[in-house]
Amino acid sequence: MNDSLPPCPECSSEYTYEMGALLVCPECAHEWSASAETDAEADAPAAAVIKDAVGNVLADGDTVTVVKDLKIKGSSTVIKVGTKVRGIRLVNGVGDHDIDCKVDGVGPMQLKSSVVKKI
Ligand SMILES: [Zn+2]
Repeated sequence: MNDSLPPCPECSSEYTYEMGALLVCPECAHEWSASAETDAEADAPAAAVIKDAVGNVLADGDTVTVVKDLKIKGSSTVIKVGTKVRGIRLVNGVGDHDIDCKVDGVGPMQLKSSVVKKI
């Protein structure tokens, strides 16, 4: 028997053998992909670390303040420095925008993590 093969996940039999890309258990006839379990972890999307203007790591649901006046394209609205933004959501936004949020009195928008500071 090949000691390097994992035991059967169904019945814990140690007499598993390889058949192509699959592992097979002769005792319960369970077949599974040997690489699936290990790959599950390797393929997990690496959580991109998004940091605010001063280097704090941001997370979904954080409350931040805006660290500089932000003009909103196509309007006269300005998000003032110090504006509090609750419940941010980290996203892969357009351009460098990596925060999805709703600003009170302005509405939903995307911000760059470089212009906010975690509270
Ligand atoms: Zn088995």
